[in-house]
Amino acid sequence: MTKHVTHWIGSKPVSGSSGRQGDLYEPSTGALAGKVDFAGPAEVDAAVAAAKAAFPGWRDASLARRAKILFRFRELVEGHRDELARIISAEHGKVVSDAAGEVARGLEVVEFACGIPHLLKGGFSENVSSRVDAYSILQPLGVVAGITPFNFPAMVPMWMFPVAIACGNTFVLKPSEKDPSASVRLAELWADAGLPDGVFNVLHGDKAAVDGLLHHDDVKAVSFVGSTPIARYIYETAARNGKRVQALGGAKNHMVVLPDADLDLAADAAVSAGFGSAGERCMAISVVVAVDPAGDELVAKVKERVARLKVGPGDDPESEMGPLVTRAHRDKVASYLDSGVAQGAVLAVDGREGLPPGDGFWLGPTVLDHVTPEMDAYRDEIFGPVLSVVRAGSYEEAMDLLDANPYGNGTAIFTNDGGAARRFQNEVEVGMVGINVPIPVPMAYYSFGGWKASLFGDSHAHGMEGVHFYTRTKAVTARWLDPSHGGVQLGFPTNG
Ligand code: NAD
Repeated sequence: MTKHVTHWIGSKPVSGSSGRQGDLYEPSTGALAGKVDFAGPAEVDAAVAAAKAAFPGWRDASLARRAKILFRFRELVEGHRDELARIISAEHGKVVSDAAGEVARGLEVVEFACGIPHLLKGGFSENVSSRVDAYSILQPLGVVAGITPFNFPAMVPMWMFPVAIACGNTFVLKPSEKDPSASVRLAELWADAGLPDGVFNVLHGDKAAVDGLLHHDDVKAVSFVGSTPIARYIYETAARNGKRVQALGGAKNHMVVLPDADLDLAADAAVSAGFGSAGERCMAISVVVAVDPAGDELVAKVKERVARLKVGPGDDPESEMGPLVTRAHRDKVASYLDSGVAQGAVLAVDGREGLPPGDGFWLGPTVLDHVTPEMDAYRDEIFGPVLSVVRAGSYEEAMDLLDANPYGNGTAIFTNDGGAARRFQNEVEVGMVGINVPIPVPMAYYSFGGWKASLFGDSHAHGMEGVHFYTRTKAVTARWLDPSHGGVQLGFPTNG
């Protein structure tokens, strides 16, 4: 056990002083791999103070300079993509190719933020009254914090900080304590790109670190991504403390398969979207709703494909699915196999069979068929490699399930009927919709976010909603007298 992950404050590594640390594991062997420092109030203060001190200079940095640093950061992350993917895989467990994919998706947000000179253009109206012009300017907020989940240790922070920093804010990232190393490597790359000291800081820890940020007067906004109960807590606490807040929560994504769909395409999609990253994705497909009579044929095709999936360590190029993130999480996910069967589901594929040897946090792809809405496996966000199949008698029955579900993150419909797809996209109460696309993660220039219990707040992440979240608008009304026109006009400008 050698690894010791420290905070990153003011562009240098800072060892923790709170005396508290967390354990880091290697999920494929179950071995303890190192420790991460956990912040207490002193480290929270130090990180926020570094970000606050850096703000005036960064706010005044020209848009050209900010864009140049972002372009350099983009090149550095691209150049270190494989290294970052290996860091992620070692702590999270996902296969290296999948981890490289998450870095690539995060990079798309950096590329979007490289356009910041264009994105920060305000409006201008000439001559709103005689010799009076009106315009708007977008200004940064100050110190903003990002609190992120374990499942995308590079991509989710990159939904936030490229846009926040490009807008002129300074940033304190509190990544997941389960896989904190990628964020420190990203901080080093920012420094190499020439980002001034203190603009990007990383603070590790648990609830104590998060609460320190939520109650700190100098933190002006909080972006959160994680589970729904914590998202609700973050939203309420940050808002009570007068902060701007966006809190993205959990999910239970349904994929509706109509009987006219291409069932081979649908089965491929269900398997990749259900078991990629061992189902530890907020956009993973968790429930397939097979509309009669598609169910039996679809389940048979899913089973065929699952039988070919290779489960193994993330750094083995042959592996298609790695272990889960911790032993406790694996045990919790596995408990849904027993509860599902006890409550009447059919275990079509049992993920406890044929696992790699050793003490890693393994659970293979599992298919629970004939799941019904009252079962725990249907009601809870499992966040693991368990795909539930629900049978529905009609499109309307499938829609009733989606409407009744408390979550509204992503959903997909598989059909060859354009009219049905159009009706679905119009009616469904979900933030991100795929049509014959199982994981409809929006491109960086659109915004990512769910509805219902999958989002607390009104701003989605990145895209123009990200720019909006990380800036305040100032409206200016200005009168300049024409030198040829003598005299002063008193009073409020009026038309004419
Ligand atoms: P989590 O909610 O346990 O943790 C998220 C962050 O909150 C971490 O940084 C953690 O340290 C912190 N945290 C945990 N408990 C806390 C507490 N009591 N008080 C204050 N802070 C606390 O989530 P996770 O297990 O790391 O990630 C998985 C969850 O994230 C799933 O529910 C998944 O759906 C969700 N997720 C959602 C999205 C989305 O875009 N909506 C994206 C990725 C993950």
